Amino acid sequence: MAPRQKIRNIGIMAHIDAGKTTVSERMLFYSHKEHRIGDVDSGTATMDWMPEEQERGITITAAATTFYWNDYRFNLIDTPGHVDFTAEVERALRVLDGAVGVFCGTAGVQAQSETVWRQADRYNVPRLAFVNKLDRVGSDFFRAVESIRSRLRANAVPIQISLGAEKGFVGVIDLIERKVIRFDDDSLGEKLEEGEIPPEYQEAAEGARDKLVEAASEFDDELLETYLSGEEVDTERLHAAIRVGTLSQELVPVLCGAALRNKGVQPLMDAVCRYLPAPEDAETICGTSPHSGKEVIRQLQRESPLAALTFKTVADPHGDLVYVRIYSGVMEAGAQVYNSRTEKKDRAQKIYLMHANDREAVEEAGAGEIVAVVGFKDTSTGDSLSVPSTTILLEPPTFPETVVSMAIEPVTIADRDRLLESLEKLQREDPTFRWRSDKETGQLIVSGMGELHLEVLKDRLLREFRVEAVVGTPRVAYRQTIRKSAVGRGVFEKQVGGKTHYAVVNLRVEPDPEAAHPSVESHLTKEAVPLEFHPAIEDGARGALAAGGILGFPLIQLRVVVSAAEFRPGESSLLAYTAAASRAFDQALEVAETVVLEPIMAFEIEVPEEYYGSISGDFVRRRAVIQDVELEQGLRLIRGTVPLAEVFGYSNTLRSLSQGRGTISLEPQAYAPVPEGVAQRFRF
Ligand code: GDP
Ligand code: MG
Repeated sequence: MAPRQKIRNIGIMAHIDAGKTTVSERMLFYSHKEHRIGDVDSGTATMDWMPEEQERGITITAAATTFYWNDYRFNLIDTPGHVDFTAEVERALRVLDGAVGVFCGTAGVQAQSETVWRQADRYNVPRLAFVNKLDRVGSDFFRAVESIRSRLRANAVPIQISLGAEKGFVGVIDLIERKVIRFDDDSLGEKLEEGEIPPEYQEAAEGARDKLVEAASEFDDELLETYLSGEEVDTERLHAAIRVGTLSQELVPVLCGAALRNKGVQPLMDAVCRYLPAPEDAETICGTSPHSGKEVIRQLQRESPLAALTFKTVADPHGDLVYVRIYSGVMEAGAQVYNSRTEKKDRAQKIYLMHANDREAVEEAGAGEIVAVVGFKDTSTGDSLSVPSTTILLEPPTFPETVVSMAIEPVTIADRDRLLESLEKLQREDPTFRWRSDKETGQLIVSGMGELHLEVLKDRLLREFRVEAVVGTPRVAYRQTIRKSAVGRGVFEKQVGGKTHYAVVNLRVEPDPEAAHPSVESHLTKEAVPLEFHPAIEDGARGALAAGGILGFPLIQLRVVVSAAEFRPGESSLLAYTAAASRAFDQALEVAETVVLEPIMAFEIEVPEEYYGSISGDFVRRRAVIQDVELEQGLRLIRGTVPLAEVFGYSNTLRSLSQGRGTISLEPQAYAPVPEGVAQRFRF
């Protein structure tokens, strides 16, 4: 096991097709040998877990893969490129310590790489940049670096430059060590040949090196002095200064390569070890006390009490795998941990290190590690784990509301139960996937982050869960909110099976525009209503929030406060309380002035200059707000916001308007009221 200074919890982030998968695969390939040597037991472990691994396909390795490079342990966390899977990126960024941004050497910074870069900014994740695909015709290392500097406003500084270009790209020039590294084709790049910088590259290399030393000097006064006096700077000192700059996120070292051609990946891994943070570089993590709400600070050490965050759940027939990032303390297999959300203890039956090709059961895992746990009963994504004596609540990753929904039904009636079960599993895995059954029609409605997202989920139903389902056309997922507070009273009294069921619930709904998700609070005392009935009342309110009253759009940006309830011994039942709460809610809603909200998307369009006029005109007619227009090498880049309802399926329209040369990327940004005049155009 690697000492903690030698753990790197990192993610690779990129625009779709920039080469994320190719880079990751090469990392696994080059580290393979090290992994075998470093882990003698894996032979037996692999055998044990093989059938399951095969059954699960790639899913097991999808969240976090552990491998060794030299004596460093990498936990590589997956971050998909497409905006529809933004939740995956979000939760990965929450738990990783550093990231590598992969960029296409031809296109430079693309829409999605910009989005993930901003997400990483928000989570303060130190980064390296890797300019990939330098073997491609039209690629240009320096242009890509320039686009990272201008579009991402990052202080991107090359620590390498490319040796050769396009088809003649053969390796990299290491500016720090002043050497070239060539990658031997016959060994698939495994063998490196180091050599002197050829004379024709001397000037470019020295120029780039000067810039690097100058940039690094910002972080080390002594280095600055040496540099200004024109003396030779010490290599180790230079590395150290680059690390300081990287950790403070004021510097982004840039490397280059062509992963597909097996070039540039090992130096990238070396740079990860050198410059990206170890878990303990952050020193502390900040959370709150679940009881008092006060701030709690934990030292990121094994010696501190346990603080851990679950960030991903993978449904598995043998028990869900829950991925956990441990910040402090130690978690032991078979021991109980305290879950701050459920306020209950849960047992981590088994703890696994997830390797490239297998998983390895471990007795315990400590601060800085990322592991998967099997056997939790009621622990899901975003939960904080600690010990009962010293609890902590860590900020869970935030997930956006879904924006697209569609009807789904099983091909045969017999499949309905299986479908429900599978939808439930998918929802556990994916916090941006929701399903519900329509109150009126009984129809099943699923919703997600985009058309692609729902398509992938439908495929998974068939492939992984073997449920055949037909789906309707994807539609905009509207929401509702309320303009003012209102109270409601729900009475339920009915004979069911010769027994009276009776309950009365009073509640209040209040606007809460800042809330990420609607909440239900209860002011009931156990004297008024026995405790066992409280959850039924809250369930009734939650069900009604999701069902969305007459229009059937789920309610958001509000709070429900259960203020009072009546209890009749022998007659009050769970069923009666749930129904009464739901009625009380619907009554309150009638006076609370509901407004329909529509998803607003941030968009980015790239089109050749000649189409700019017609496309921007068309977009304004679609209620778009254009915020920014740039012109770069004959390409117009238009950015702004637009209601999703106006651009559903727009990529096809754009393709025909621009003869296939325009692209658009859309990303959910907010929910906004549908304007009066527009509301009439839609049949909700
Ligand atoms: P991801 O979507 O970011 O994971 O990108 P992939 O790794 O799947 O790569 C997308 C495409 O680019 C694939 O067809 C790769 O073969 C190709 N690709 C990846 N790296 C390189 C490279 O260095 N050079 C070239 N020419 N193609 C590459
Ligand atoms: Mg990929």
